[in-house]
Order: sequence, then structure tokens, then C-alpha cells
Amino acid sequence: MNDHTAHLLERLGISQRNPGGFHGEWLGSGSRQQVISPLDGEVLAAVTNVDRAEFEQVLARCHGAFASWKLVPAPKRGEVVKELGDELRRNKEALAELVTLEMGKTLREGLGEVQEMIDICDFAVGLSRQLYGRTMPSERRMHRLQEQWQPLGVVGVITAFNFPVAVWAWNTAIALVCGDTVLWKPSSRTPITALACTRLAERVLRKFGYDPAICSLTIGKGSEIGDLINTDPRVALVSYTGSVPGGRHVGRLVQERFGRHILELGGNGAVIVSQKGDLKTALDAVYFGAIGTSGQRCTSTRRVIIHESIFDTFVAQLQALYARTPIGDPRDAAILMGPLVDAGAVATMLEAIETIKAQGGRILMGGERLPNPGGCYVTPCLAEVAAGLPMTREETFAPVLYLTPYRTIEEAIAIQNDVPQGLSSAIISDDLLETELFLSAAGSDCGIANVNTGTSGAEIGGAFGGEKETGGGRESGSDAWKVYMRRQTSAINFSGGVELAQGITLEL
Ligand code: NAD
Repeated sequence: MNDHTAHLLERLGISQRNPGGFHGEWLGSGSRQQVISPLDGEVLAAVTNVDRAEFEQVLARCHGAFASWKLVPAPKRGEVVKELGDELRRNKEALAELVTLEMGKTLREGLGEVQEMIDICDFAVGLSRQLYGRTMPSERRMHRLQEQWQPLGVVGVITAFNFPVAVWAWNTAIALVCGDTVLWKPSSRTPITALACTRLAERVLRKFGYDPAICSLTIGKGSEIGDLINTDPRVALVSYTGSVPGGRHVGRLVQERFGRHILELGGNGAVIVSQKGDLKTALDAVYFGAIGTSGQRCTSTRRVIIHESIFDTFVAQLQALYARTPIGDPRDAAILMGPLVDAGAVATMLEAIETIKAQGGRILMGGERLPNPGGCYVTPCLAEVAAGLPMTREETFAPVLYLTPYRTIEEAIAIQNDVPQGLSSAIISDDLLETELFLSAAGSDCGIANVNTGTSGAEIGGAFGGEKETGGGRESGSDAWKVYMRRQTSAINFSGGVELAQGITLEL
């Protein structure tokens, strides 16, 4: 390991061996795993998972911390989140570089991810003074009817590898101002960025004199630690980000105990490129959406549905862009595409390409493994396919892009919607009739529907999530905070007597 990396890890509190649990103290005596960088196969650190008994200790402390945290006034909780945002500002470059080293996205995207964490902290600080309830006119004389929002409890945050820190921040910043405590189980593929974030949160909570177990951590196998979170009634809300099969399992277990869940699952983003849109805008939007994060975003563009009159022109220009894609070390500012997360992801991509061919798809270019030693680098793939090809209905978490022609806008929308997932979609068109149709009830069935910009790169201000197999959850901005709180409706009687609703009388 070179000196620069060693200093980076030290600055963020990462040692050669790290305990994977935190509840105010660090603990972890379960199985040990090495964290290997997809950039070059270098071992970055080792992490010791928490075992079942340690999980119980962490959850007990995190649950215990809720009792006092929920009583702290929300604007005071906001001050803690403000400081967390400032800590992230101070450590933005370092944390971004760690994200790059651990999961392989380009440094510019790593910086964007940390910026997203800062943005959601800012949003949550404002929110801490705006957790508004409503008052309604009561049908009874001298009565008031009101709704208010109360803290909920422990939020179990289970995160995917591809946004190893932002998804924690999306949930944590909102949960904290809502008065909840957080138990984080990160992806086993990205544990050290989770350690770094937890250390930042620990510092902030200690500075204010609050119990650091408010931001707890349990690193361990999903099938073991994840299931303990899914099944424990002390975890009031499980916010799960991951694959569709994983979400199906989590949803079932949490529902069985009538817990709440937010499911943020797989996507299958499509862009409709109309002949009435700007070609350059379409090319840029599709290109970044498809190769950004090496096709490993839930909002990645996986399908392009192109008007038949411009199909050949668009595809030729996209091929030219693809051929020039700078692939390599994602810390290098000139690089646009880094490695896939691990060797397994490369194998999955190569297998998918064989299946596409077997199903009648035509590979136009790319889809090869590059020979960099230790790294997981591939070339991005373009495939021309007919509408309805079975593989286009699946999310291959890699840079594979399907190109399909269409004749009418109605046909394009039907192709776009004809997949099990419903996360992100876009249309490139300057024709108001087309774009309004796309945004209407007859249009896109996704949680995100963009016009003249691509499928990926959501802002924190809006509620984020998708429909169908994407799970239906919403997190981040807008009024997504309401899932993190308990709604309480109260009738307050100041009449001096008792009057029943609906005109029911009480003869005593
Ligand atoms: P994954 O499903 O392999 O893992 C996600 C998380 O689930 C990990 O922390 C894992 O340890 C945990 N897990 C595994 N078994 C579990 C169990 N029994 N109970 C609870 N948790 C368990 O996903 P991944 O490969 O890390 O991420 C890629 C997937 O995530 C893609 O499908 C992508 O679309 C999706 N994703 C969705 C969003 C969104 O907001 N919709 C965002 C990012 C990623």
C-alpha cells in the first residue's frame, strides 16, 4: 500500500484490523473479512463482523438510546445533523476517495456521492423546524382536531454496495431529525466506508454530549445480521436498499411482524429518444446514464427506445462515443469508467452477454474483460434488440445497454413500461404533446420520469423511489420523512361536557 492510501485510511480512522460493530464502543469478534479494492486487487483493510450476541448488544443500546433522543427538541436534533454535514464538508475529498478505492466509482462520482450526503444534511436541518402536523375543524362544538408527528424508534438501514455512503446519509439525516436512532448494516462489499462514516457520526454525537449509540453499526452477513434486523420488533422501520429478491425476502419478514419498511430495489431505466428531440442532449444523457458508475446505479440507463427515423444516426454516434470511453483507474480525472465492483460482477456481465446473443440480440460492441492485473475492468456493451427480448426485462448490474427502435410515441411508452421494475425513466423530446403524454397517467409508470435529462442522477429534494418490483418505497426529500415518524391524531375537548362524534347521543 502506498503512503497516500495509508494516510487516507488513517485520517478516516481505518486500521489494518477493524471491529465491525459500534454502539458507543467498538466491538466485533465474529468472522473476519478482507476488503479488496476492485481497482487493483489490493487489500485495503480487514474487518471483523459482529456475531449474534454482539448484534443483540448493539441493538439493545441503539434501542435504549431512543428513549432519551426522542425527547430532544427536533431543532436541537437538527443542530447535530448540521454538524454532521459540516464534518462531511471537512472530509469530503478523503471520504470520496475511500468510496472510489472500495467500490470503484470514479472520483468525480465519489465526490458527488459525498456532496449528496451534505445536501441531505442541509435539507434535514431545515426539516427539523418543519415537521408540520395539521389541525382540522372538528364536527363537535368546542373541540379541536389535530395531527402531530412523533418519533418512531430504531430505523434499521440496510444498504447496497453501489452507493455505500449516500444511502446511509439519506436515511440517517432524516431519521435523526425525526427523533429516531439508526442501526446500519452496510453491504459486506463496502464495510470500510461505513466504518469511516460511523466514526464521523460518533465524533459529532460525542461533541454534543449525546449517546453515540444513536448511530450504531453492525457489519456482518446479510443472511445472518440482516435477518436479525428483519425479524426484531425493536426495529420499527427497516429501510432496505438492494436487489429485488433480497427486498422480497425482507418485505415478507418485516410485514409478518407488522413492522414498517422502505424498499428501494432494482431498476431498469429507459430513455425514449424522439425524432423531435435534440440529438446531442439525447446522446449525452444516454451515455452518462449507461456508463456512469460502470452501469452499477439503480437508475442506470439500461434501455434506449429510439424513433426509427433516427435509429441508425443515433446508434452510430453513440458507438463513436462508446469507442472513445476512457476506462481505467477511477482516481484519474480523465477516466469516465472505472472497474466493476468485483470479479463476480464481471462474470455476471459476461454471462448476460451470452444470453442476449442466444435470445437473438445483436452485440454491436463491447462487453469484454480488460486485462488490467487485479482489476475488474470491462468495456461497455451496446446491444441491438427487438422489443420484448427476455433479457431486457432483467436488471444486469453492469454497463450493458439495449437499443430498440419504435414507430409511435404510444408504442415507445408501452415498451418502456413493459418491464417488472418501475424506478427511473426519461424522454428526450422538444414536443410538448409528447412530453406531457409521457408525464400523464397514460405515460411512464415509474417513480422517476424525467424530460430532456437522463434516468440517473436524482436530486435529494424530491422523494426517491420506484414502483412495481422496485418496491414502492420513498426516501430522501419532499415528504418522505413521514415514514420515519408515527402519526398521532388527537381530539381535544374544551367544552366541559362529553359529546360524541357522528351525532351519537349518550343518555345517562
Ligand atoms: P444485494 O441485494 O446483494 O445486497 C443489498 C444489502 O442486502 C446488503 O447489505 C446485503 O448484505 C443485504 N442482505 C443480504 N441478505 C439479506 C437478508 N436476508 N436480510 C437483510 N439484508 C440482507 O444488493 P447489491 O448487489 O449490494 O446492490 C445492487 C442492487 O441494489 C441492485 O439491484 C440495485 O438496483 C439495487 N439498488 C437500488 C437502489 C434504489 O434506491 N432503488 C439504490 C441502490 C441499489
